[in-house]
Amino acid sequence: MAIIHIPLNITHFILAHAQRHEDREVCGLVASRKGNPTRCFEIANVAPDPATRFEMDPAAQINAMRAMREAGEELFAIYHSHPQEPARPSAIDLAESAYPNALYLIVSLHTAGVLEMRGYYIRKGQTEEVELSQGVKSGPHLSPG
Ligand SMILES: [Zn+2]
Repeated sequence: MAIIHIPLNITHFILAHAQRHEDREVCGLVASRKGNPTRCFEIANVAPDPATRFEMDPAAQINAMRAMREAGEELFAIYHSHPQEPARPSAIDLAESAYPNALYLIVSLHTAGVLEMRGYYIRKGQTEEVELSQGVKSGPHLSPG
Protein backbone atom coordinates (compact mmCIF):
# COMPACT_ATOMS: atom_id res chain seq x y z
CA MET A 1 0.00 0.00 0.00
CA ALA A 2 1.36 3.40 -0.90
CA ILE A 3 1.96 5.68 2.07
CA ILE A 4 0.75 9.27 1.85
CA HIS A 5 1.84 11.80 4.44
CA ILE A 6 -0.86 14.11 5.79
CA PRO A 7 0.32 16.87 8.15
CA LEU A 8 -1.49 16.98 11.50
CA ASN A 9 -2.93 20.45 10.94
CA ILE A 10 -4.58 19.24 7.71
CA THR A 11 -6.01 16.19 9.46
CA HIS A 12 -7.30 18.30 12.33
CA PHE A 13 -8.93 20.77 9.97
CA ILE A 14 -10.80 18.04 8.11
CA LEU A 15 -11.89 16.15 11.23
CA ALA A 16 -13.07 19.37 12.90
CA HIS A 17 -15.05 20.33 9.80
CA ALA A 18 -16.73 16.91 9.73
CA GLN A 19 -17.51 17.02 13.45
CA ARG A 20 -19.29 20.36 13.19
CA HIS A 21 -21.90 18.76 10.93
CA GLU A 22 -22.88 15.37 12.26
CA ASP A 23 -26.04 15.18 10.19
CA ARG A 24 -24.62 15.99 6.77
CA GLU A 25 -21.64 15.27 4.58
CA VAL A 26 -19.09 18.05 4.49
CA CYS A 27 -16.60 18.47 1.68
CA GLY A 28 -13.56 20.43 0.68
CA LEU A 29 -10.25 20.50 -1.10
CA VAL A 30 -6.66 20.15 0.04
CA ALA A 31 -3.95 22.08 -1.77
CA SER A 32 -0.32 21.07 -2.01
CA ARG A 33 2.98 22.52 -3.11
CA LYS A 34 5.47 20.15 -4.71
CA GLY A 35 3.39 17.25 -3.42
CA ASN A 36 3.31 18.44 0.19
CA PRO A 37 -0.18 19.29 1.52
CA THR A 38 -0.36 22.95 2.47
CA ARG A 39 -3.92 24.00 3.32
CA CYS A 40 -7.61 23.13 3.15
CA PHE A 41 -10.57 24.84 1.56
CA GLU A 42 -14.02 24.19 2.98
CA ILE A 43 -16.52 23.96 0.13
CA ALA A 44 -20.27 24.13 0.75
CA ASN A 45 -22.15 20.91 0.10
CA VAL A 46 -25.02 21.87 -2.19
CA ALA A 47 -26.39 18.36 -2.74
CA PRO A 48 -30.19 18.23 -2.34
CA ASP A 49 -29.74 15.27 0.04
CA PRO A 50 -26.59 16.28 1.98
CA ALA A 51 -27.05 13.55 4.60
CA THR A 52 -25.92 10.95 2.10
CA ARG A 53 -24.36 12.85 -0.81
CA PHE A 54 -21.95 15.63 -1.45
CA GLU A 55 -21.85 18.04 -4.33
CA MET A 56 -19.39 20.88 -4.11
CA ASP A 57 -20.70 24.38 -4.67
CA PRO A 58 -19.34 24.95 -8.20
CA ALA A 59 -18.48 28.64 -7.71
CA ALA A 60 -16.65 27.95 -4.45
CA GLN A 61 -14.78 25.08 -6.05
CA ILE A 62 -13.68 27.26 -8.96
CA ASN A 63 -12.58 30.00 -6.55
CA ALA A 64 -10.53 27.54 -4.50
CA MET A 65 -8.89 26.09 -7.60
CA ARG A 66 -8.04 29.60 -8.77
CA ALA A 67 -6.58 30.52 -5.36
CA MET A 68 -4.38 27.41 -5.52
CA ARG A 69 -3.21 28.19 -9.03
CA GLU A 70 -2.39 31.78 -8.11
CA ALA A 71 -0.40 30.58 -5.10
CA GLY A 72 1.53 28.04 -7.15
CA GLU A 73 -0.30 25.16 -5.51
CA GLU A 74 -1.99 22.16 -7.01
CA LEU A 75 -5.00 20.07 -6.05
CA PHE A 76 -3.85 17.37 -3.67
CA ALA A 77 -7.00 15.85 -2.23
CA ILE A 78 -10.76 16.00 -2.15
CA TYR A 79 -12.24 15.30 1.26
CA HIS A 80 -15.74 14.54 2.42
CA SER A 81 -17.43 12.97 5.40
CA HIS A 82 -19.79 10.06 5.90
CA PRO A 83 -22.01 10.75 8.91
CA GLN A 84 -23.52 7.27 8.93
CA GLU A 85 -21.37 5.13 6.66
CA PRO A 86 -17.86 3.70 6.95
CA ALA A 87 -14.86 5.61 5.61
CA ARG A 88 -15.00 3.90 2.25
CA PRO A 89 -16.08 5.27 -1.13
CA SER A 90 -19.77 4.69 -1.73
CA ALA A 91 -21.09 3.48 -5.06
CA ILE A 92 -22.03 7.09 -5.77
CA ASP A 93 -18.53 8.28 -4.86
CA LEU A 94 -17.10 5.83 -7.38
CA ALA A 95 -19.56 6.85 -10.07
CA GLU A 96 -19.00 10.57 -9.53
CA SER A 97 -15.24 10.65 -9.00
CA ALA A 98 -13.75 12.90 -11.63
CA TYR A 99 -10.18 13.47 -10.45
CA PRO A 100 -7.99 10.41 -11.02
CA ASN A 101 -4.89 12.25 -9.74
CA ALA A 102 -6.46 13.54 -6.54
CA LEU A 103 -6.48 11.66 -3.28
CA TYR A 104 -9.96 11.04 -1.90
CA LEU A 105 -10.02 11.49 1.85
CA ILE A 106 -13.12 10.12 3.55
CA VAL A 107 -13.96 10.73 7.19
CA SER A 108 -16.45 8.53 8.98
CA LEU A 109 -18.37 9.74 12.01
CA HIS A 110 -20.00 6.34 12.22
CA THR A 111 -17.27 4.61 14.18
CA ALA A 112 -18.24 4.97 17.84
CA GLY A 113 -16.07 7.45 19.68
CA VAL A 114 -13.30 7.45 17.10
CA LEU A 115 -13.14 9.57 14.01
CA GLU A 116 -11.71 7.66 11.14
CA MET A 117 -10.11 9.05 8.00
CA ARG A 118 -9.00 6.90 5.10
CA GLY A 119 -7.48 7.73 1.74
CA TYR A 120 -8.10 6.37 -1.73
CA TYR A 121 -7.30 6.94 -5.33
CA ILE A 122 -10.30 6.34 -7.54
CA ARG A 123 -9.52 5.61 -11.16
CA LYS A 124 -11.97 4.33 -13.70
CA GLY A 125 -14.35 3.26 -10.96
CA GLN A 126 -11.66 1.25 -9.16
CA THR A 127 -10.44 2.19 -5.70
CA GLU A 128 -6.90 1.88 -4.44
CA GLU A 129 -6.55 2.50 -0.72
CA VAL A 130 -3.42 4.22 0.53
CA GLU A 131 -1.98 4.27 4.00
CA LEU A 132 -2.22 7.71 5.61
CA SER A 133 0.81 8.62 7.64
CA GLN A 134 -0.06 11.34 10.11
CA GLY A 135 1.88 13.73 12.21
CA VAL A 136 5.46 14.72 11.82
CA LYS A 137 7.11 13.70 8.62
CA SER A 138 9.85 11.23 9.43
CA GLY A 139 13.37 12.14 8.49
CA PRO A 140 15.99 9.86 6.99
CA HIS A 141 15.94 6.42 8.52
CA LEU A 142 18.49 5.95 11.25
CA SER A 143 20.09 2.57 11.45
CA PRO A 144 19.54 0.91 14.81
CA GLY A 145 22.41 0.75 17.25
ZN1 LIG B 1 -18.95 9.44 0.04
